[in-house]
Amino acid sequence: FAPWNDPKARPFIEFRNVTKRFGDFTAVDHLSLGIYEREFFALLGPSGCGKTTLMRMIAGFEEPTEGHVLLDGQDLVGVPPYRRPTNMMFQSYALFPHMSVWDNIAFGLKQDKMPKPEIAARVEEMLALVKLGPFARRKPHQLSGGQKQRVALARSLAKKPKVLLLDEPLGALDKKLREETQFELTDLQMKLGMTFIIVTHDQEEAMTVADRIAVMDHGKIVQVATPAEIYELPNSRYVADFIGDINLIEGRLAPAAGNGARLECAGTGATVETSQPVEAAPGSEAWFAIRPEKVTIGLEPPADPTKNALKGTVWDIGYLGDVSIYHVRLATGATVKATIANRTRLVERPITWEDEVWLSWSRDGGVVLTR
Ligand code: ATP
Repeated sequence: FAPWNDPKARPFIEFRNVTKRFGDFTAVDHLSLGIYEREFFALLGPSGCGKTTLMRMIAGFEEPTEGHVLLDGQDLVGVPPYRRPTNMMFQSYALFPHMSVWDNIAFGLKQDKMPKPEIAARVEEMLALVKLGPFARRKPHQLSGGQKQRVALARSLAKKPKVLLLDEPLGALDKKLREETQFELTDLQMKLGMTFIIVTHDQEEAMTVADRIAVMDHGKIVQVATPAEIYELPNSRYVADFIGDINLIEGRLAPAAGNGARLECAGTGATVETSQPVEAAPGSEAWFAIRPEKVTIGLEPPADPTKNALKGTVWDIGYLGDVSIYHVRLATGATVKATIANRTRLVERPITWEDEVWLSWSRDGGVVLTR
């Protein structure tokens, strides 16, 4: 399932050069984006970057100031929310407190004047889907946070929309329940074969649930890619820094020997090489970016001459049980973090504070970024 790699596939939802202004504030800035049918798509970015506004334009709660939003090739501009095949589930759940779970789920169907037997069948189907059958007669205040979240989900799925819009759907749940619910959501989305679009500022959540992620900054999309591409091949320091932990080493591009890129690290005299090419000219300012778990650490320089290596001193070690994070200071004063799996019992450390060490990694371990 990767329609975005198929040049013939047409996006199901399309933003064409969309701008949204509130007064003189630009919330969404000349943005173009395609989301495919049956895709689980995540909008990720810091607070205020325009994620919710983008989603509200799909739902019809906001109209673009400029540009077009299309669904299945049809321009949605001017189509009211209730005529769109979309539904939005809010973070607050917005359940009716005086109604039972059953009536909350049935509410929209009754409004649509669906025949009673069909309503009953649909509500039962939804209750089974979210595993809330035994709770049908309860009121929202008699439910846990996770159960309320599932009622809200069942209610927003009851009309079988083509697109479900989820605005921070798991924000009110604690970490463990959140993680369980993420897997339930992906499972549900696959079973139903619907398009899910989720807004979140939690990068782990986006990585867990989504087929693709759009990382946003100030009303623009910086990168759209699969979770693995976003994590392994970020296109900018902004994306690299936003997703997970990363080391950034400043330097200048040097002429590369082969296909990859070569960076002279500022102040160390060391160069690092990557297998990933860059487009900028030698001499340009650039950054080498590498995830801490791609770096290995040793008391000797690496035996393999194709590996990149930098020398430094251990100044801190964080023991996290499954891994230890070594903070290694380079001659420039910059720190590089290396995350090492603790595969054996670590009562005594082979490498410890103040040790002079070599950090090393393979050429495809990191990337050179020019913006
Ligand atoms: P969060 O994660 O905090 O929900 P977000 O990325 O979803 O943030 P939006 O809700 O899309 O951000 O808002 C983007 C910007 O537009 C914000 O600066 C917000 O203050 C502004 N904004 C949104 N709606 C309105 C409105 N109706 N009137 C004025 N400004 C608005």
